[in-house]
Amino acid sequence: MNAENTRKRLVLGNWKLHGNLADNATLLAAVRAGAVGQTAEIGVCVPFPYLAQAGAALAGSPVSWGAQDVSTHEKGAYTGEVSAPMLADLGCRWALVGHSERRSYHAESNDYVAAKAAAALKAGITPVVCVGETLEQHEAGKTLDVIAEQLAPVLALGAEQVARTVIAYEPVWAIGTGLSATPEQAQEVHAAIRAQLRTLGAAVAEVRILYGGSVKPASAAGLFAQPDIDGGLIGGAALVADDFLKIAAA
Ligand code: PEP
Repeated sequence: MNAENTRKRLVLGNWKLHGNLADNATLLAAVRAGAVGQTAEIGVCVPFPYLAQAGAALAGSPVSWGAQDVSTHEKGAYTGEVSAPMLADLGCRWALVGHSERRSYHAESNDYVAAKAAAALKAGITPVVCVGETLEQHEAGKTLDVIAEQLAPVLALGAEQVARTVIAYEPVWAIGTGLSATPEQAQEVHAAIRAQLRTLGAAVAEVRILYGGSVKPASAAGLFAQPDIDGGLIGGAALVADDFLKIAAA
C-alpha cells in the first residue's frame, strides 16, 4: 500500500536532565565529528541552559539542535517559562512538546501540548509532538484511541501547520525501561498515525514520524526499516556518542 519511503530520516537525541559544560563539550564534539557523511539528519535537544553551548559547538555542522520544551506564551509575567521567540532568537531548530515526562510530571493536557506546538510554529521552530500510551492503556488495547485523542488538537491546528511538524511515537512503557516496542508493534501505530495525518491531505501524510523508547544500536535497524518509521527520538543512548551515532547510521 505504501509507496517507497522517501522521507529524509531524522534521529534526534533527547538529553533530558543531563549534562554539564565539560561533558557536553566532549559529547557535542564527538557527535559533530561522527555526523559527517551520515545520510540521516541528526539533532540534539538539550537542557535550556546549554542551548547556546550547543549552538556554538555545532555551528557550521549538519547537526541541528533544539529544546526539550517551550512555553505557550510569547512574553509576560510567566516566571520560569522559556518562549518560542527566545528559542528562535538563539537559533533553535526543534522543540520537543508533550514528552511523556512533561505530560505525567507536569500534567500537560493534549490541548496544552497543541498550544505549545502552535507557539513553536509561530516562531519558526519545528515542534516534535510526542505521543504515546501508558502500559495500562497498552494492556487494555487502547493504544490507537489514546494516540488519536492526543493528536486531535494538534491536527485541529490545520494542514498548513501540521505539515511543518514532526511526530514522535513513544510508548510510555518503553521510555527508559529497556523494553522497546517490536518493529511490528511500532509500525502498526505509526501506520495509524499516518492515516490520521492523511485526513489533512497528502502533504501532511508525509510528516516524519519518529519512534522513541529504549532504542539501542542493536534494535535501531529493525525499527527504522519499517515503512512508516522515519527515524528515532533517542533518550539514554543519546548520551553516549558512539551509540547515538550507530543508531543514526542504522
Ligand atoms: C525519550 O526520553 O524520549 C526516550 C525515548 O528515552 P529512552 O531512549 O531512554 O527510552
